[in-house]
Amino acid sequence: MKIARETLQFILEVCKSSAPHEFAGMLSASGDVITEVIVVPGTESSDESAVMQLFMLPNIHTIGSVHSHPSGNMTPSGVDLELFDKKGVVHIIAGAPFDLKSWRCYDKDGIPVKLEVVDYEFKDENDILFE
Ligand SMILES: [Zn+2]
Repeated sequence: MKIARETLQFILEVCKSSAPHEFAGMLSASGDVITEVIVVPGTESSDESAVMQLFMLPNIHTIGSVHSHPSGNMTPSGVDLELFDKKGVVHIIAGAPFDLKSWRCYDKDGIPVKLEVVDYEFKDENDILFE
């Protein structure tokens, strides 16, 4: 599994701007490259948690989740591990200070996995949608 550099940068930026609140979203991929972050409507965010209302999830295929830990501790909590197990196969936790080194990726069991950052050429699908 890989992630597009722009998508990762976007994630780190929103995590940073959400701090001290947590940011949470779902990930979607094109092939084996994570290219999109879906912010779940109704996500309640505080400085302790971001509770995603998964039933609000738009009807699109997601492969995992992303959320921030403004504390900077990038270890998944017990609640995180429960979510990882339920929804998707790749789970990113970004921790303060939200730079390119302050994030980790885990599999559904909470085992750290390597996520390769790649340059990905985005096709502007919105152009077609709104023609
Ligand atoms: Zn967490």
